Amino acid sequence: MIVKFRSESKELKLLRSLDSRMKLSVKDKNHFENLEKGFKGEKKFDDWIEEFFHNDCLILNDLLFDMNNTIFQVDSLLMSSDKALLIEVKNFEGDHYIEAERWYMSNGIEIQNPLHQVKRAETNLRRIFQAIGCNVPIESYLLFINPNFHLYQAPRNTPIIFPTQLNRFMKKLNKPSPPLKEIHHKFAERLVSLHLNDPPYKRLPIYSYDQLEKGIVCGSCFSFFEDFQTNRKDVICKECGYKENVKSAILRSVDEFRLLFPKENITTHAIHDWCKVIKAKKVIWRILTNNFKVIGQSRSTYFVDL
Ligand SMILES: [Zn+2]
Repeated sequence: MIVKFRSESKELKLLRSLDSRMKLSVKDKNHFENLEKGFKGEKKFDDWIEEFFHNDCLILNDLLFDMNNTIFQVDSLLMSSDKALLIEVKNFEGDHYIEAERWYMSNGIEIQNPLHQVKRAETNLRRIFQAIGCNVPIESYLLFINPNFHLYQAPRNTPIIFPTQLNRFMKKLNKPSPPLKEIHHKFAERLVSLHLNDPPYKRLPIYSYDQLEKGIVCGSCFSFFEDFQTNRKDVICKECGYKENVKSAILRSVDEFRLLFPKENITTHAIHDWCKVIKAKKVIWRILTNNFKVIGQSRSTYFVDL
């Protein structure tokens, strides 16, 4: 049973939008691509769990906690009555190697040791468990989901699950455990209540409205829609073939505008300018009126959530 679903972080959505609409610095672009890749790996893990995992268990995805000003993340927590499995999912690709406990990509660039990350998360999570009175023991794993990952000099007796070990690991996960009790559900609820919904961003590129390219981007490949006809029911992306309802594409653009410019009012004029490809302001007005609450009158009208 999934107690907490995974969703894209605001930071990822923001960077994705900026990446379509401006040129990111090399550093920001790398950071964005890492986030995107990490998220894809986590979704792949979720699909794998959904397909093969059948145990009576509470699943909490993508938890973010603040432990004495240290923010740490738990990719997935599978809580059964006798143990809680903390799983750190990595979507690393290609050859990697370890030398003296340091991790490197095949080109010799050092990366953060993910085992240290897992250990840190486990220690912090244990503190949180103590604080909420949860005495279920924690077992942690570092799981590599991408079949194109290889690690040379991999140490034995580490909690690493390689892509070739996924099936066996799943068998272990599916070993029956005693049924969950009310108290476990309570613990899970407490953990969700401690989750940080709006974490501070590590770093964000500086951007301004004028600097960003306007238009409606495809919800799948994020390229701009050039031929956007509002008299049709759906719009089809020329780049990737993705089909989307006109209204949903416009509302998605409104969400994007709000994410990038949270202090700006949503007005017909602002969204018309932002979407660029929609000629008739009336179309924008109608969609906003039908989906938001209207505040003010005539020219100073703006829209807020219903
Ligand atoms: Zn597309």
